[in-house]
Formats: sequence, C-alpha cells, structure tokens
Amino acid sequence: MNNFIKKFVFKVGNTTFQFNRNKGKLTDLFTSTIKRAGSPVSYTVGKMPPTPDLKAVINDLTSKNKVMVFSKTTCPFCIQVKELFSSIKVDYKAMELDTESNGTALQHALAEMTGQRTVPSVFINGKHLGGCDDTKRAHRENKLLAMINPPTEKYDYDLIVIGGGSGGLAASKAAAALGKKVAVFDFVKPTPIGTTWGLGGTCVNVGCIPKKLMHQAALLGHSFHDAKAFGWQMPESIQHNWETMKNAIQDHIGSLNWGYRVQLRDKKVEYKNAYAEFVDTHTVKAVDKKGKEISYTADKFILATGERPRYPDIPGAKEYGITSDDLFSLPYCPGKTLVVGASYVSLECGGFLQALGLDVTIMVRSILLRGFDQQMAEKIGEYMDKHGMNFIRPCVPTKIEQLEEGKPGKYRVTGQYNDGTPYTDEFNTVLFAIGRDACTNNIGLDKVGVNVNKSGFIPVDDNEQTNISNIYAIGDILEGKPELTPVAIQAGRLLANRLFSNSTTLTDYKKVATTVFTPLEYGAIGYSEEDAIKEFGESSIEVFHTNFRPLEWTVPHREDNACYVKLICLIPDDMRVIGLHVLGPNAGEITQGYAVAMKLNATKADFDDTIGIHPTCSEVFTVLDVTKRSGGDVSQSGC
Ligand code: FAD
Ligand code: NDP
Repeated sequence: MNNFIKKFVFKVGNTTFQFNRNKGKLTDLFTSTIKRAGSPVSYTVGKMPPTPDLKAVINDLTSKNKVMVFSKTTCPFCIQVKELFSSIKVDYKAMELDTESNGTALQHALAEMTGQRTVPSVFINGKHLGGCDDTKRAHRENKLLAMINPPTEKYDYDLIVIGGGSGGLAASKAAAALGKKVAVFDFVKPTPIGTTWGLGGTCVNVGCIPKKLMHQAALLGHSFHDAKAFGWQMPESIQHNWETMKNAIQDHIGSLNWGYRVQLRDKKVEYKNAYAEFVDTHTVKAVDKKGKEISYTADKFILATGERPRYPDIPGAKEYGITSDDLFSLPYCPGKTLVVGASYVSLECGGFLQALGLDVTIMVRSILLRGFDQQMAEKIGEYMDKHGMNFIRPCVPTKIEQLEEGKPGKYRVTGQYNDGTPYTDEFNTVLFAIGRDACTNNIGLDKVGVNVNKSGFIPVDDNEQTNISNIYAIGDILEGKPELTPVAIQAGRLLANRLFSNSTTLTDYKKVATTVFTPLEYGAIGYSEEDAIKEFGESSIEVFHTNFRPLEWTVPHREDNACYVKLICLIPDDMRVIGLHVLGPNAGEITQGYAVAMKLNATKADFDDTIGIHPTCSEVFTVLDVTKRSGGDVSQSGC
C-alpha cells in the first residue's frame, strides 16, 4: 500500500474522475471527486483496486439519464436498440464502450452489477432493463414507454378509439365487454357541398350499405324486364323515382345510426361526437361541433379514422364535382352522369346509376379494376358496355365548368385522351371515384411520432401496433391491407381481445374474399391469374374455367357467355386452389361459401369431390374440367 499512488485522474465520456488517497489513513479507502457541470461531488468508494469507482461512474450515468444505453459502435443489437429509441422519439444517452479507454473495465463492472456480460445494456430510470431482446419485448408488450414515463396519474380511459366506423365500433365494444373503460370519438367533416352523416363510418353511411341497396334497386329494374317473360303483366313503361329510393335508404341508415348509439350505451362505451387529435402519447384534445375543446387521457389508443374520397387537382373539381360521400343522399336524381375512375367505387356506382335508367359515362384513366384479375375486369367492362354503359378510355378530365345552376345543374367537362386527343361533353353530374385518402393528416400523429408512409397510410406489425407502443391502428388506414368492412371489424375485435384478455389470435389478412357489386357481380378470392403466373411461373399454374348460363336467364333470353368462372390451381402443391373468380348473379353469396374452402386450403380434387346443388350457378365450381391450356370450348350449354 505504501507504494500506492496518491491521486489519479481520468475521463469517461464528459465526466472527469479524480481519486485521492485519504490523508493520514493507511487504509485502502479512496475518495472520489466527480467534476460534472461545475458541481463537484465527493464521496467514498469501496475497496481499491480495480472497479468500484467504475460502478460509481455507471450509477452516476444511469441515475442522470432516463434512458442509458451501454453500447458498442459495431454491435448490430446495440444499433437496433438505439434505432428503436429514435423511432419512438425517446431521447437516450449512449456510451460506446469500444471508444472508451477503459471500456473493457466498464463492461466488466456492468457485468458485476447486472449479471449481464453483453451489450447493449439498457437502463431505464436507473433500473437495469436488459439487452436488445428485453428492450424489444418491453416495447412489444407496451411496457417500455410506461417504464420511461411512468404514469403520474390515472388515465381517464383504458382505451380511446378514434373513429366510430366499422373497425372502431367493433374494437370499442369488444374492449368494453372485457370490462375496460372505453371512449370512442367519431366526427364527420362535411363534404365540400356540405353533406354529412351519423355514427357508423363509411360502410353504413356512404359505402357498403347504401351502395348495396342501390345495387338492389338496379337489379330489381332488370328483373322487371325478365318478369314479362315469366308471365307478369307489366305496364309498358316503368319509371324509377330517385327521391323515393334515396329517402327509403336514408331512413334505413338513420335507424342503423340510432342502433349503434344504443349499442354503445348498452355496452357502456362512451360515445363522443367530437374530432380527436393527439397532444401527447396519452392525451387527445377533442373538439365538438360547437368548437368546444376538451382533453382526455388514455392508457392505449386505437386509430380507426378511415378514408375520404380524393378530388383531382383540376379547375372546378371541388366546386362542381361530387363523390360517393354525396351520391347516396343526393336530394335530386343525378341525371346524365360522368363517373371518373375505374375501380370498385366507380364501376359499382356507375353500374347502378346506368341500370336505374340514367345516361352514364365512365372515364377510365388506364385499366379497369387495377389489382384484380384483368380477364375478369374486362369481362365486367364488356357486360356493362353491352348494357348501355359508355366507357371513355384512356382519358382523364382536365377541367369542369358550370353551364347552368340547378338540381342537377349542367357542366362542361374537358379532358384529354392518352394520345393527346381532346375530349369534351356536358353532364348534369360529375362523380369523382378516383381513390380515397387515409384520414391520418390532421390527427396529431406528428406530435406523437407515429410513422405514416408517403401516401398517409400507417404501417403496423402483425399485432396492429404502430411504432408507438400504446398506439394501434386498424381498418382502411393500414398500409397494404384490404380496405373492406369485415376486415376492419375482424381486426378491431381481435385487437381488443389481445389487448385486454389472454387472446393471441391475430387477424389473417390473406385470402380475404371480396365482391365487386357491378350489375353482373364479380367475386374473387386469392390470386389473380397474372399474379399467380408472376409468382409461381406459368408452368406451375393450371387454370380451369368455363362460361355458364344461369337457369333463370334462359326463359327471358338473356345473353350467352356473360357469366364466367375460373379456378387457379398450383400444380406442384397438389393442385391447391389459390385463386377463385366468379362473374355472375349473386357472386357475393357464392364467393362467401368458397372462402371457407379456400381458407382450409382446398385442392381441385376437393372441389371435384363435392356434390353440387342443382340447379344453381355455384354448382359450376364442382364440375370444372376444361383447362385454359387445353384451349377447349367453354361456351355455356344450358341446363
Ligand atoms: P370508416 O368506416 O371510414 O370509419 C372511420 C370513422 O372515423 C369515420 O366516421 C370518420 O368520420 C371518423 N373520423 C376520422 N377522423 C376522426 C377524428 N380525428 N376524430 C373523430 N372521428 C374521426 N367494403 C366492403 O367490405 N364491402 C362493400 O361493399 C364496400 N362498399 C363500399 C362502397 C363505397 C362507396 C366505399 C367508399 C367503401 C366501400 N367499402 C366496402 C369499404 C368500407 O366502407 C371500408 O373498408 C370500411 O368502412 C372501413 O372501416 P374503418 O373503420 O377503417 O373506417
Ligand atoms: P381505388 O384506389 O381502388 O381506384 C381508384 C381508381 O381511380 C383507379 O381506377 C385509378 O386509375 C383511378 N384514378 C386515380 N387517380 C385518377 C385521376 N387523377 N384521374 C382519373 N382516374 C384516376 O379506389 P376506389 O375508391 O374505387 O376504392 C377504394 C377502396 O374501397 C377499394 O380498394 C376497396 O377496398 C374499397 N371498396 C370496396 C368495395 C366492395 O367491397 N365492393 C366497394 C367500393 C370500395 P388507375 O388504375 O389508372 O390508377
């Protein structure tokens, strides 16, 4: 001990350490002076040498930094942990041990203190959390932020759901049923022409429900023509009254709005008719119709804010155009209508308007039904074309001008074909159906650091968790997920169960069946033919197909070869059916049943072994024997 140094000084990061041998005492106790931010602290440390002083260093760093990461610059796990903290907008202090002169000794001291020899070694509020996996797990389990910012008070709610549409209502009811205190905020911003609606979101008010009912009105119109052939005595001219249809449908929607309010009340979900926006990760401010602002806090949030229709950036679009948000409650018959766009909304709305007897033009920018099987899409187009739909393609509008005011008014639409040829025509109504924007713009996501992609959609993990651990998202605002009501409902229900019970069941977004309710309905599950070929190669795919003629179409002499089905099978996987497509009456009803078979991974042999129901359209799937490759004749042959 006599030869022992009396004083030594060293630096770790920005901290200077000076050790003095205690005067007059021939012991091995040393006093450490830590010079930091101009306020030296002296205290006695344990036995020397070698590491007790380093433990003091570690204690000092972990007590002064909410999040302290002992790391190494080259360690991939350290990088992951630091990236995680950055992504959730948490400030952290990192000490890179491989750049410190006494890094090895510090790591040794850390190991003695925590039992963890490896890096990263993460401390939250002075407590050792663990390494990369421990940190990620805490984040996944929604515990990390709570450890960093422990609640100082009880929140107003266990769960706040923003958006009272298909997904939001399902999630809030399921959470309340599990005994949680839940509030759901739903607020509809009026359209440019002032249309607004009640609780329930897009599907109930301006989507599936009014659309399907107007589709039904259109089908009935067609049935009147068939009815004559079956002996019904019909007046020569049958007229449709828009206002009667619209009022009846809106009355039904009103009853649904009321029903949702009653359900929420019965299930003890607090419904707030106010626009919610994040203030911080546990607080939203909500502004009601009168502009009154109140803040609410919650432990967890589910975003289910849906989408709203997009307008093109051309003169007159917002002043004179309408969207599906206006169409279903339009107080007057739209008259001669231009529908711009060529996907679900456009073809469905254009389809029923034309079948109700209106003069309808669909302006198509490129292809019909992008993302769907293109053979089926073109067959839909052919059928609609044959039944009086006017398709303008490939063409886009460039200007809308008002010619006459009125209900409906009159508008000149100027446009341009792809080859530069100008287009112009006059319409009573211009309906834009050119896609929908996610409502993620003005809800304070930037304030809390929730990631959105370039198009405004929210990326989530399999657990529907955003990058902020107490904020989840479901429904139409999700990146890369089907935008359909049952998908949003399933996701909301299962998420609430996972959050508030022991459930671990995730939403399966694959093989989701869908139907386009064009006058001749189109149902689809799984791969389109082109996607199947792209993914597996043409030689691995066998397509069985046929036209079919519904028995009901024979007596009224409806056209041949309009209805069509195909099954796409994967040859190397025991002819598993990976794509099912049907174009025909009631395709929605048909497709739903086969969705179960597809979920159970049915093969072509399973379809063949199934005995059909005669006489139905659907039975055609049990007798498919012509492959596309064979070039065999598939024209229909009657009953
Ligand atoms: P939404 O149902 O849109 O609900 C979101 C709610 O949140 C809205 O009420 C909105 O006003 C509210 N909101 C937004 N921001 C805030 C905020 N900051 N504060 C408070 N409230 C807010 N799907 C099908 O499966 N079958 C169909 O036949 C079908 N037809 C359709 C037809 C049309 C014309 C359209 C447009 C869509 C159709 N869809 C159909 C799609 C379906 O409607 C949607 O997939 C579904 O409604 C999505 O539910 P969601 O919960 O994500 O959002
Ligand atoms: P989509 O995004 O699917 O389609 C947009 C259409 O508009 C495309 O045809 C696109 O053409 C065209 N378009 C885009 N921009 C322009 C422009 N500037 N000028 C002209 N045309 C343009 O949107 P939808 O609104 O039809 O559907 C949204 C979602 O709603 C769907 O994905 C679906 O999930 C859901 N939905 C479901 C229904 C159902 O289940 N039956 C019914 C209705 C909606 P291009 O191909 O050239 O890009």
